[in-house]
Amino acid sequence: MPAVLRVALPVPLPTLFDYLPASLGRADVGSRVLVPFGKGKAVGVVVEAEVEAAVGSTRLKRVLKVLDDSPLLDAELMATLARAADYWLGAPGEAYANALPLALREDRPLPDLREEAWTLTAAGRSALDAGSRRGGSRALLEALARGPLTATLLHEVLPGWRDAARRLDDAGLIERTELAGSAPAPVTTPPELTTEQREAVAAIGESLGHFQPFLLDGVTGSGKTEVYLALIEQVIAQGKQALLLVPEIGLAPQTVRRVRDRLGVAVEVLHSNLAEGDRARAWLRARSGEAKVILGTRSAVFTPLPHAGLIVIDEEHDSAYKQQEGFRYHARDLALLRARALKVPVVLGSATPSLETLANVQAGRYRSLRLRARPGAIRPPQVQIVDMRAQRLEHGLSPALLAAVADTVARGEQALVFRNRRGYAPVLLCHACGWHAECPRCEHPMTLHAGRRQLICHHCDYTARLPAQCPACGAPDLKPQGQGTERLEEALTAQFPEVPVMRIDRETTRRRDAFEQLLESLHEDRPAILVGTQMLAKGHDLPNLTLVAIVGVDEGLHSVDFRASERLSQLVVQVAGRAGRARKPGRVLLQTHHPEHPLLRQLLAQGYAAAAATLLEERRSVQLPPYGHQVLLRAEAHQREHVDAFLADAANALAGAPLQLAGPMPAPMPLRAGRHRGQLLIEAETRSALHTALRPWYRMLSTLPSSRRVRWSLDVDPIDLY
Ligand code: ADP
Ligand code: ZN
Ligand code: ZN
Repeated sequence: MPAVLRVALPVPLPTLFDYLPASLGRADVGSRVLVPFGKGKAVGVVVEAEVEAAVGSTRLKRVLKVLDDSPLLDAELMATLARAADYWLGAPGEAYANALPLALREDRPLPDLREEAWTLTAAGRSALDAGSRRGGSRALLEALARGPLTATLLHEVLPGWRDAARRLDDAGLIERTELAGSAPAPVTTPPELTTEQREAVAAIGESLGHFQPFLLDGVTGSGKTEVYLALIEQVIAQGKQALLLVPEIGLAPQTVRRVRDRLGVAVEVLHSNLAEGDRARAWLRARSGEAKVILGTRSAVFTPLPHAGLIVIDEEHDSAYKQQEGFRYHARDLALLRARALKVPVVLGSATPSLETLANVQAGRYRSLRLRARPGAIRPPQVQIVDMRAQRLEHGLSPALLAAVADTVARGEQALVFRNRRGYAPVLLCHACGWHAECPRCEHPMTLHAGRRQLICHHCDYTARLPAQCPACGAPDLKPQGQGTERLEEALTAQFPEVPVMRIDRETTRRRDAFEQLLESLHEDRPAILVGTQMLAKGHDLPNLTLVAIVGVDEGLHSVDFRASERLSQLVVQVAGRAGRARKPGRVLLQTHHPEHPLLRQLLAQGYAAAAATLLEERRSVQLPPYGHQVLLRAEAHQREHVDAFLADAANALAGAPLQLAGPMPAPMPLRAGRHRGQLLIEAETRSALHTALRPWYRMLSTLPSSRRVRWSLDVDPIDLY
């Protein structure tokens, strides 16, 4: 048998592909190669070199081109990716593809690494003086008027600047330039750390140089970021790199600013909203060791760290860290794999740690560090329950809640009404005949969006025009049922005509800078009422916000999803943390029909840690994760029989294995976007039992004839069962 290269290609198959070496150039493990694949070509990553071919040489094709002289993915990343593909039962090629920015998955030369910067030309200065440009173009000209700026800075001050840059470059008004390596100078000084912060920094600092996971458990505003900053400073002083993960892009700019202003280092940013070239450049600067601090969202966990010193995962409980399609990895868990391989400490920060992480602390695998005090605030916000039973509600808002909002704005302060549902109303009902608007592709109620005069399915985005009368009986009075943020905005505007009411959700902040601008305007010391979804639950400091009213959490108390209670507790605590982050004391109201619910009572009386301990005990007693282990096989197809046939074959193939099977059964949403959906839940007491049985099974699934008629996927440690 001839020696071949074993290559990972970005296809959803459980296999690697063998190729004869290229006639020109040597490819090592971790290098990219261009290969013939099917009728076309594909870029893959060499996973093994000089191995014996699995098939006869007559069927082997040859690598067309070696794209990298030296490996693009280093040994640590290659090993970690192989382990990750094995753990998440993912297609190896998709795991490697996830690790590479899109621009590096193509047959193109690597981008120029010198920092991209832009400056005005003489014509540009005249255009600015003449005021001949408007909108984004003008904003960019103005930004460059005081001197050249780097792309990194432009991303920060003018998100979406690239379109304007293209226009102005074409018109000869701006040009690319290079900036002399000017390290930004630190402009802020660290506060004197509290005893708890110093202890945390010392404990983690002692672990630099070897693997040790830490939970940094502290409420929002307790000073976790200051702990990260002190540690990152130590890491940089040792000439090493720090990787900081945040759950959302929205949280990145303020953190970038904070790191740069404090430590005087450039911060490399990696997230999916970046232009592909920028993302590739940031990734490559990390690979060269030049980038010392890398900040990014989920996929940044794959950043090469040749001089790794520390990994931090902020808001570790956040479900945004779980990828929900393709290669379904969890960035927090992957960061742990990497930290172990890189021999560095990993810090998981949260005010509301996940039950998985708390179980790891209990088992002694993670060390827990706590920050109890809140350095800035006067005292933690008081949470009160508003019993809404037998109350006269105003669009779902109780008199007590409205009175609290009135008091707050009368004092010149800001109130936030939190409701985790977009749109005007989740249901549109005919009172005459009982008809309600339903998505034809999902058989689920459609949400009324009154401003757009549309019905929208929040599961598949199917849209329909708002009917003028009932399509079933012709009656004219269709009634919205329930409240979304749009309806609350309307109700609050009517109640408080003299106070600005701002809605913050995906609809009102579609443009990235719109969100930033809205938040900016709230820093002013004037009264305002905010209505918002989850988007507002995190990060942003609003110094004049002193009242948080949480409405519509009752759904979370009765969900069939075993993680619903955990999520509800985290959400309540995170949203409550928005109140009183500054000089003024905060107040939190929780409006519910179930004031006696044990979870709410414990959460409010004893706090998150106690509630989480109870939830963990419940999970232990019924062997649910993190005490039991789950893998979910999902399948969908236009025909129900195809789903059933595939899942039955898949389940039969597991007969006799020491596993518990639930199903095959319909998914909680049995129809979505016109496809029938089913699932098979596989559980075991130990991970090893689960993986031992499922590894060969996973490879077998794609060979089942019935698998060809469905879309299927495996989800290891699924975080929701949808
Ligand atoms: P977290 O990351 O836990 O939300 P931060 O580190 O952002 O908390 O701290 C919240 C606020 O308190 C910030 O404005 C920060 O500058 C300030 N702060 C943090 N630690 C201290 C300290 N030891 N002394 C004074 N102010 C502090
Ligand atoms: Zn009707
Ligand atoms: Zn739908």
